[in-house]
Amino acid sequence: MTAEGYRASLRELHPDVWVRGRRVPSVADEPLLAPGVNALALTYEMALRPELADTMLVELPGGGLANRMNALDTSADDLLRKLEACRLLCRATGCAQRYLTHDALGALAEITSLADASLGTEYAGRLAVFAERAAERDLACAVAMTDARGDRSRRPHQQADPDQYLRVVERRPDGAVLRGAKVNITGAPYCHEVIVLPTRAMTAEDGDYAVACVVPIDAPGLRVISRPAGRAGVRAAPFSAQYGQATAMLVFDDVVVPWDRVLLCGEFSLAGRLAEAYANHHRHSCIGCRAALGDIVIGAAVEMAVANGLSVERGHLRGCLAQLISIVEGFYACGIAASVRGRRTAGGCFVPDGVYSNIGKLMLAEQVPVMFRVAQEMAGGVVATVPTPEDVEAGGELVRRYLDGAVVGGAEHRVNVARLMADLTASDEGGWYALISLHGGGSPEALRASAVRQYDVEGRRELARRLACLGGGEGGCSGCGSCG
Ligand SMILES: Cc1cc2nc3c(=O)[nH]c(=O)nc-3n(C[C@H](O)[C@H](O)[C@H](O)COP(=O)(O)OP(=O)(O)OC[C@H]3O[C@@H](n4cnc5c(N)ncnc54)[C@H](O)[C@@H]3O)c2cc1C
Repeated sequence: MTAEGYRASLRELHPDVWVRGRRVPSVADEPLLAPGVNALALTYEMALRPELADTMLVELPGGGLANRMNALDTSADDLLRKLEACRLLCRATGCAQRYLTHDALGALAEITSLADASLGTEYAGRLAVFAERAAERDLACAVAMTDARGDRSRRPHQQADPDQYLRVVERRPDGAVLRGAKVNITGAPYCHEVIVLPTRAMTAEDGDYAVACVVPIDAPGLRVISRPAGRAGVRAAPFSAQYGQATAMLVFDDVVVPWDRVLLCGEFSLAGRLAEAYANHHRHSCIGCRAALGDIVIGAAVEMAVANGLSVERGHLRGCLAQLISIVEGFYACGIAASVRGRRTAGGCFVPDGVYSNIGKLMLAEQVPVMFRVAQEMAGGVVATVPTPEDVEAGGELVRRYLDGAVVGGAEHRVNVARLMADLTASDEGGWYALISLHGGGSPEALRASAVRQYDVEGRRELARRLACLGGGEGGCSGCGSCG
């Protein structure tokens, strides 16, 4: 699909979208959502650039090409290219969102195959039909995993309000009826379809909450309560007035999902595995995405230092730059390792290594705010104090004279770079990027738990037990069982 084709496809849909208390008549033409629509449109445009074809497109097994973001990975090379594609797309758009479809398809391929093999269901075939449609029609999908969740200390069936987790309230001949809400859903207003996944492990009593399916964004009964995308209409926001993402609450008011779109319904034992499978893919994609944020921030920090007349090749500014590089390339290296150490799963999909994808995501969750601080240290306070566009216009000569920095006549450039840095690190959008780095894809504690669960801790214990007995000690081995 071309960028214009994507906009036209949005005009054919009629979702119930609300922004700032107002119903949106046409998502493609809504100024408050424009940065999000622009970002997705750019992902379509980039996929058609011949020089990016190897990164952005894949050949389908049955012939023809598809966007990499709508395809399964079959090798470590696919994972590496997807990681790189995320980095390139997010450099241009801030948060490209298209990889959500990719991540959900990978997880569903694995778990629907497992369900069919172990429980006799028929989900894998239904998924294959959807995957083919997504590839052929070049769909952009949101992934709705995070439930409202009410009291976090209680399981779904223990909540005072039973709709705090999305659930199946009725199984009718024409489909499953869904009630409840999913929250924090990126890109929902301007997607074509929503892929619904369970957010956590479930018990038998939670059976009605163990649901996965695909829902058109304009399905009757589905309401999208969205924040504006990026910093729509803000003149001082050079990047995020153009590109950014909206997050939305999706309210399911008895939405009927036809059975051929239902991919898990009551198989509670697989809910946690599906959530973890998605997380492994998604955290890997997040690594590419935030490395792109790092690329922009590093570039802006260096540009500011140079505009200030300073060299980044020596002194403490070189130290700062080295720290930024080690942060960004450190977590990106985990993405590369996760690709190379990936494995094939049921359903034929290649998945990134869970330890490396979780640790890489954890590193970025903890270090993106550090990255902002170090870049701001390099750039100076002007990032926060740069005059508004209106003041630059009104007091043009004075502002130009006193914000020149090192280059006479360079004030405009210095102001623009300061605004870019402010936009990404010191505005409400900067806060959004810090928060999506921290919680998007799961809270830091979820990442820690997942990494530890998938790490060979026992192997390390055994190693230590064996080495502890090497010296023999007073009485030799005390019965560790490992040293032979
Ligand atoms: C910008 C942004 C975009 C997002 N996009 C999407 C998206 O597209 N799709 C999607 O599905 N989700 C999305 N998310 C949601 C994201 O996955 C969640 O924010 C994340 O899983 C954390 O959940 P929460 O925000 O509800 O935090 P909470 O669950 O409220 O967590 C707050 C704190 O409480 C702790 N905690 C939670 N439960 C327990 C417990 N039982 N015991 C002890 N401690 C606990 C957590 O570890 C954390 O430290 C997005 C989030 C953000 C910020």
